Amino acid sequence: MGSNLDEKIEPTFQQVVNRNPGESEFHQAVREVLESLGPVLVKYPEFAHHKIIERICEPERQIIFRVPWMDTNKEVQINRGFRVQFNSALGPYKGGLRLHPSVNLGIIKFLGFEQIFKNALTSMPIGGGKGGADFDPKGKTEGEMMRFCQSFMTELYRYIGEYTDVPAGDIGVGGREIGYLFGQYKRLVNRYESGVLTGKGVGWGGSLARTEATGYGATFFLNEMLKVRNDSLDGKLCLVSGAGNVAIYAIEKLHQLGAKVVTCSDSNGVIYDEKGIDLALVKQLKEVERRRIKDYASYHKHAKYIADGNIWEIPCDVAMPCATQNELSGKDAATLIKNGCIAVSEGANMPTTPEGVKIFLEAKIAYGPGKAANAGGVATSALEMQQNACRDAWTFEYTAQKLSEIMKSIHNLCYETAEEFGTPGNYVYGANIAGFIRVAKAMLAMGLI
Ligand code: GLU
Repeated sequence: MGSNLDEKIEPTFQQVVNRNPGESEFHQAVREVLESLGPVLVKYPEFAHHKIIERICEPERQIIFRVPWMDTNKEVQINRGFRVQFNSALGPYKGGLRLHPSVNLGIIKFLGFEQIFKNALTSMPIGGGKGGADFDPKGKTEGEMMRFCQSFMTELYRYIGEYTDVPAGDIGVGGREIGYLFGQYKRLVNRYESGVLTGKGVGWGGSLARTEATGYGATFFLNEMLKVRNDSLDGKLCLVSGAGNVAIYAIEKLHQLGAKVVTCSDSNGVIYDEKGIDLALVKQLKEVERRRIKDYASYHKHAKYIADGNIWEIPCDVAMPCATQNELSGKDAATLIKNGCIAVSEGANMPTTPEGVKIFLEAKIAYGPGKAANAGGVATSALEMQQNACRDAWTFEYTAQKLSEIMKSIHNLCYETAEEFGTPGNYVYGANIAGFIRVAKAMLAMGLI
């Protein structure tokens, strides 16, 4: 790996690699943040003196547990559950639960690490954490999902709480799963502790606009980046990857702001609809019927389904990767630039590889990294916690307005921080530096934590 690391920081990174062998995604996430921090240590030598970077790279607590459950054929199944409580300097650990066969400790640690800075950027009182299990929700029955969630919570409940750690959804965990998890938590502790989980159903503690928040927020961030460049989303041709919660509401907001989205995808293939994605159909297929995106093409004969296709080869003005980590390579980034793409806003966590990020930054397109662009989800989770704490429920308009203000302020914070540290327009530096400084100052104030 070519080194852009400050010589004072390089040994810290080497130590992270040596102490966490095999966790490549975690190394990648740490390296990207550390590459931004050289100038921060010049301005704040006390951070180096007190070993803040070394401390931030070490999770406060890591929990790994067995999740036994019985499938519909009465066969015993065993999964591995995780919760990494990474940093609580700014508030209770906060971050989603991911259910996907690829989940392992390294994946959860990369996500938890990103979450620390993302949550700090929201300026809300939330620390960083992440959890999940190597469980594959694909093809599971309703009963299997419920039994898995109940078994998972039967262990997890010991470690969470409204003042300790507040999980939410991520890949494979939506409103249905949060319901099962909350129900089991409530039985185990015999308390109606609404603030222990976010992403709850509206009507029993959930916040309006939480479902839409990540996709809407990433689109607001994109809009802000374009505004700085005296441009707008009106008439823009967009690629969105994914077909889950983030992708669906990114498409919805892009359409509302006058853009035209021509793609969506899942892990099997890509839908290309040159007339513009029929979002009502995607919602019906994914949110209601839980089907694969391939079926879109059987309702719209003009749309193309490209099995195993590469979405980033389709010409566009703007791209929003909203599927998963490392879905957009260096080669894909080069293709996007060659085809005239002027802006990328990440709805997923770390969807662009380091090579891809470098290409976007060198081309000086508007590039919004996930930890800033997709922070609207967790920010609205913090709004849900606020409503739970005062036993209130706000209107959709009020909550969505707050979300839009938060995204504007995250954008401005990243933009201004990048300017201040001599890398104007570089939202990667801006986000990493601004998020880091906020956490570092709190850690310093609290003594040796
Ligand atoms: N999983 C989401 C994220 O990556 C949301 C987490 C939350 O709401 O706590 O930020």
